[in-house]
Amino acid sequence: MSKFALSYEFDALVVGGGIAGLQSALDLADQGFTVAILVKDASIGGKMIRLSKVFPTLDCSSCITTPKMAAASHHENITIFTDCDLTSLKRTNGMLNAEIVQRPRFVDLDTCIGCRQCEYSCPVYVPDEEEGGLSLRKAIYIPFSNAIPQIATLDVENCSLCGKCAKVCPTDAVDYFQQPRTMTIATKTAVMATGFSLTPIHQKKEYGQGQVPNVITSLQMERLLAPHGPYQRVLRPSDGKEPESIAFVQCAGSRDKSIGISYCSRVCCMYSIKQAMLLSGSLPLADITIYYMDIRAFGKGHEQFYQNAKAMGIEFVKGKIASIAAASNQNVAMKYEAQEEGGRLATREHDLVVLSLGIVPQWNPAGICDLSTGSDAFIRSAMPQIAPTMTDMEGVFVAGVAAGPKDIVDTIIEAGAAAMEAANYLGRFSSTQAARAADNTTQPM
Ligand SMILES: Cc1cc2nc3c(=O)[nH]c(=O)nc-3n(C[C@H](O)[C@H](O)[C@H](O)COP(=O)(O)OP(=O)(O)OC[C@H]3O[C@@H](n4cnc5c(N)ncnc54)[C@H](O)[C@@H]3O)c2cc1C
Repeated sequence: MSKFALSYEFDALVVGGGIAGLQSALDLADQGFTVAILVKDASIGGKMIRLSKVFPTLDCSSCITTPKMAAASHHENITIFTDCDLTSLKRTNGMLNAEIVQRPRFVDLDTCIGCRQCEYSCPVYVPDEEEGGLSLRKAIYIPFSNAIPQIATLDVENCSLCGKCAKVCPTDAVDYFQQPRTMTIATKTAVMATGFSLTPIHQKKEYGQGQVPNVITSLQMERLLAPHGPYQRVLRPSDGKEPESIAFVQCAGSRDKSIGISYCSRVCCMYSIKQAMLLSGSLPLADITIYYMDIRAFGKGHEQFYQNAKAMGIEFVKGKIASIAAASNQNVAMKYEAQEEGGRLATREHDLVVLSLGIVPQWNPAGICDLSTGSDAFIRSAMPQIAPTMTDMEGVFVAGVAAGPKDIVDTIIEAGAAAMEAANYLGRFSSTQAARAADNTTQPM
């Protein structure tokens, strides 16, 4: 008997359910191909669904991501697999074979109706990673309000096994004995859209290694700015004070050889300017300072966005931050090299400091498949100039930040290009298979 409990077949496999994966899957499915989306998380949406607004238009991020998520989940040609880890991707006999482990959710996917009765009855509170740890969630919970699927998940590490959730569930969906499931997907082509993580904060001891109160990450600031975020307004985490002075530290984990990340993460300048503008809207009296090495505003409309921020009174200080430490009154003290003042070492205090952390790949293909990565650890393009989504595995393409840091606009464009390459490959696939079959059946004379 096969060690895999379930096996499926699709024309295309998309690994990743962020905006890149969703766009590639929709573009392929709209052409009539069957697509499986494989996601590590409990919901599709990736980072974009967690952002407040997007530069340079300041559109509401969840308002423009949710329709794509809904379109993918309702598409008749798309099947979504959540909580999945890809353990192997190999091409054998012409087909790509993916081996997958689906982690248990301890809630039955087919019977849960998303009523949240389990969540309301759960007595356990733990920090909510979806809100950057700034608020609490229950041990059994729906990941966030517009998560897809709207199905609860049980965090077994923190569950007290009190049984209250199972008692109140109207459909008996809670299953404490669920086991990991193994499955295989046979497919013809794949798009890798595995996205990014932020530079680990603990790598930089000069920045306090995550131990200085009121030093937060840029994704935490996105949540503070979101209308449905942890406090529904901007407050500093340690004491709930409305901050009067907020600073952004640029290149905190990019262009920094001391932590092995020499490249520019490309989006940090723009997202910090965006956050600064949003902050000056919600806290009009606050002083906002951006400490930078260079401002990189290269995209369409980006330079104007930067100039608008300066006109709004946001202060830009050219200087590399040398150290960050706790100061009195729960403030944060920063030492920096003031480059516009002859390079002297200056010190300033702020109520709240945001680290504009860099972008690193979320997934490493080593040991799983033969995709190679570049010196920056992102998936390498086999033809970067003329076919940037093509990888060195036959019929496998790459899209979005999995290939290198980029903003949403470039991610969407690349995801469309990867889907187009995959569709072309599918078109060629049938004739190649027919030729292979003919070769195999030819008998020696
Ligand atoms: C703080 C911040 C603010 C930003 N603000 C803006 C902005 O205002 N405007 C803008 O244009 N850009 C902005 N960006 C950039 C934007 O977030 C990215 O361009 C975009 O989210 C990239 O999408 P993606 O799908 O490539 O990756 P992600 O959103 O990271 O999605 C990756 C997906 O892959 C899945 N995955 C990962 N590994 C595996 C695996 N092994 N198996 C299965 N699934 C896997 C994940 O579960 C997830 O679904 C911002 C970035 C940050 C950090």
